[in-house]
Amino acid sequence: MSSSPAIRRRLSGSAADFIDEAKLHGFLAQPAEPGRVREIIGKSLSKEALTVEETAALLTADDPALIEEVFDAARRLKRDVYGNRIVLFAPLYIGSECTNDCVYCAFRRSNRAVQRRTLSSEDIRRQVEALLDRGHKRLILVFGEHPSYSAGFIADCVRKVYAAQRPRASIRRVNINAAPMDHEGFAEIKSAGIGTYQVFQETYHHETYGQVHPRKTRKGDYLWRLDALSRAMEAGCDDVGIGALFGLYDWRFEVLGLVTHAIFLQTHYGVGPHTISFPRLRPAAGVCLDERYRVKDADFKRLIAVLRLAVPYTGLILTAREPAELRREVMEFGVSQIDAGSRIELGGYTEAGDAQVLEREQFELGDLRPLDDVLRQLIVDGYIPSFCTSCYRLGRTGEHFMEFAIPGFIQQFCTPNALTTLMEYLVDYGSEETYRAGVRLIEDELAKIPAGPRKTALLERLRRIRETDQRDLYF
Ligand code: SAM
Ligand code: SF4
Repeated sequence: MSSSPAIRRRLSGSAADFIDEAKLHGFLAQPAEPGRVREIIGKSLSKEALTVEETAALLTADDPALIEEVFDAARRLKRDVYGNRIVLFAPLYIGSECTNDCVYCAFRRSNRAVQRRTLSSEDIRRQVEALLDRGHKRLILVFGEHPSYSAGFIADCVRKVYAAQRPRASIRRVNINAAPMDHEGFAEIKSAGIGTYQVFQETYHHETYGQVHPRKTRKGDYLWRLDALSRAMEAGCDDVGIGALFGLYDWRFEVLGLVTHAIFLQTHYGVGPHTISFPRLRPAAGVCLDERYRVKDADFKRLIAVLRLAVPYTGLILTAREPAELRREVMEFGVSQIDAGSRIELGGYTEAGDAQVLEREQFELGDLRPLDDVLRQLIVDGYIPSFCTSCYRLGRTGEHFMEFAIPGFIQQFCTPNALTTLMEYLVDYGSEETYRAGVRLIEDELAKIPAGPRKTALLERLRRIRETDQRDLYF
């Protein structure tokens, strides 16, 4: 199914290069006055999205006291917009065949150090069952770029994931991270019921992009990739995720690239990205990393806090590439989603032991803790782990989602759904220790909810989950 803007665009063949490098560098060249930085912080605390220039001003604030003010504001904004929930998901790698040659990735075609594999239907079923048995409800499927991973193949994988069943459990939301498609391809994966379609620009800096993605490969076309999410939107995928691979170029520039991209989507399609990812480069089999632009932990924290302030209503995803301790530390600056219990070896959820098998994965993970451990740590740190998938299943996505992302929405929907999905986890999969900590957290959270019809309905659902086989009771 093609929408009319899609047809118009195919006829004109136009794709906009909205990254004006000179302008972005210009913004970063002038450190902002402390007064101006505080003014901008004030604007974001009123939950207004920032302009690219304002974001640059926050990035140039190098004074330690000012940086602390940026951190404080990011903490406050996160609490105000997202409350204390953290949404949990897991990646499922489907195939490591790839015709591209990205210098940083173990799946690149010239790499002989990696074992190639594509999961069969049976493999997918087994991996999903293993994920369900651990308590997962939300997955992201990840693919290399290869002719055999067509839109039809990807759509088929999505259907297989939804079809896998365990007693009282199935996957409720399948997101995708796969190479850019044309309009028809996006429409096809949308019709399979995907949640978010995610693709990272990797670097918004043109010259660097050319250096790390050989031009003769599909991914070597900067504009085809930059335009991917516009095509996705035009084909009806209104729930998209952007990202940059930090460590390829100047981190400040990449933040401005991400914010420019978010504003472009918001302006042209009436809805910004649902999520932003900010992976940092990791060691990988057969990959020799250029350390020139390595992002230090201190700068990593700053980039998360500045992103939080720049795009208050966009989810921020922090992955298990980062080590456990750092994940704990940076969570408070505005992260809304994390993966947990992740294995990225092909077949890793049933075949890998405790150690990583580098020759079978795209890069090395930093946080290998099981889901139950991550979840318990979140609880101890005062977060509500959530497996909620309600908005997407009730059609609260894209611009409709933005309407709901307003004060009161969290109390009405997000917190109750977080508590019911947490209760499901505790009853069905939680270790004894996690169960005890989780039930205490649920009681504390319930005490904060004022009496009324919503609270009565929530208490009744929690009771049904505890005492019966009923599951998936969402608001
Ligand atoms: N092959 C598709 C593509 O490139 O768009 C799908 C995504 S790829 C399997 C997932 C993401 O992993 C890439 O977009 C890239 O940002 C990230 N990645 C690749 N190599 C990495 C590395 N060495 N360390 C950290 N992240 C890496
Ligand atoms: Fe292939 Fe994606 Fe890895 Fe590039 S990042 S080599 S496209 S899997």
